[in-house]
Amino acid sequence: MEVCYQLPVLPLDRPVPKHVLSRRGAISFSSSSSLFGAPDPRQLSQRRGAISYDSSDQTALYIRMLGDVRVRSQVGFEPERRGSHPYLGCLLKLSLTSHAELVGSIPARRIRRLFSFQRHLLTSRLLRGTPHLSPLHFLDEDYCGQAKCMLEKVGSWNFDIFLFDRLTNGNSLISLTLYLLTHYGLIELFQLDMVKVRRFLVLVQEDYHNHNPYHNSVHAADVTQAMHCYLKEPKLAKSLTSCDVLLGLLAAATHDLDHPGVNQPFLVKTNHYLAALYRNTSVLENHHWRSAVGLLRETELFSHLPTEDRYVSRQLGSLILATDISRQNEYLSKFRTHLDQEDLCLGNTSHRHFVLQMALKCADICNPCRPWELSKQWSEKVTEEFFHQGDIEKKHKLEVSPLCDSETNSIADVQIGFMTYVVEPLFAEWARFSDTRLSQTMLGHLCLNKASWNAMQPEEAEGEQAAATEEPSSRALPQGSQEC
Ligand SMILES: [Zn+2]
Repeated sequence: MEVCYQLPVLPLDRPVPKHVLSRRGAISFSSSSSLFGAPDPRQLSQRRGAISYDSSDQTALYIRMLGDVRVRSQVGFEPERRGSHPYLGCLLKLSLTSHAELVGSIPARRIRRLFSFQRHLLTSRLLRGTPHLSPLHFLDEDYCGQAKCMLEKVGSWNFDIFLFDRLTNGNSLISLTLYLLTHYGLIELFQLDMVKVRRFLVLVQEDYHNHNPYHNSVHAADVTQAMHCYLKEPKLAKSLTSCDVLLGLLAAATHDLDHPGVNQPFLVKTNHYLAALYRNTSVLENHHWRSAVGLLRETELFSHLPTEDRYVSRQLGSLILATDISRQNEYLSKFRTHLDQEDLCLGNTSHRHFVLQMALKCADICNPCRPWELSKQWSEKVTEEFFHQGDIEKKHKLEVSPLCDSETNSIADVQIGFMTYVVEPLFAEWARFSDTRLSQTMLGHLCLNKASWNAMQPEEAEGEQAAATEEPSSRALPQGSQEC
């Protein structure tokens, strides 16, 4: 068995046309039942190790998988990683002479490993505590079907964006935003050209750096999903205009565009051109905003609308700039004052815009308010990005930024500090504004997640942490420490 020529990548989020399959001799595991020709799931279970193809002259097998699967070359496979995202599909290209040879040379155990997405699905369901379903159940469904199925519950706070990203072959931001734009009827209402919409979203997703552990397109998709959850909260849903919703979703999807994976203090101390361009003020947020406006102009998405340019640009900028964590206290005290005086009037355009800013701020830092199994993954990713910055700083003999030194910080202490001084005050006010089941659920998760991190703290640090937790308002925010 030898490795054959390179085959182009076929996107998983749409069915592979039959003529393409037959021309390439390619077989995708993603289309299961029709491919195996066995409508009865029990038959599938017996045949799931088998791979068939349509005609005898086909010599290439094309397998796409979700997950980081490594198969040793001595069994005849030569895996090749594609794309920069670690969970993008992995391609296996094989040249085989017969069906029997393939099946005969690979142990059944190894073939089962190929169906990694099912394993992942089951694991994820177990973590969520949902009933265990037979693996046979999934064999009738393809990736596209699974992703569509997930989108039906896109308004759920338990939405697993990591799983969705795998099911869409790393295209979660495109798929989710496109779905939401359609769901809200915005494409029809604003007469958006679907070709331009799709091109815009593809460019947005590509502009995220998927080698960043945290600030990548999955984070943007996660923020967009959270934004959707907030937009459908009763107070907002009944007062927001379609234009507000469109801007809210676009701002969420683009709010970290072209994020370099380091924070503003790093750009300032390394004399980065962006710091000079934006005079050391909201450097990243200004860049995200300008990048988003650049893509809107490039794709001419709103060119048919009379007020397109200035209005959209200004509103988008105002929303994205609000995500600057160093201005957290400014926004929070304004929010608090409004709530104390009970004078927020959502019929007022500027008040609505302010609430949209607060919603985006919440969406951006909502990771600690997600269920533990999701929240923990985000915590690990953001800390990895911090520590990576710290390593660069050490390498170049720069002062190591707060929370970026892996030798003096742990994931737990970074998270506890972030939750205590940044997340809790914001979500407490949000719950005052939007006193719903969701806001209480978020506070509940926040409390539980913090307790989980506290339990992981070494004993000697617990005393210090307890003292810190008692008086959160007396401590300053770690400036630029958790740029989102
Ligand atoms: Zn962000």
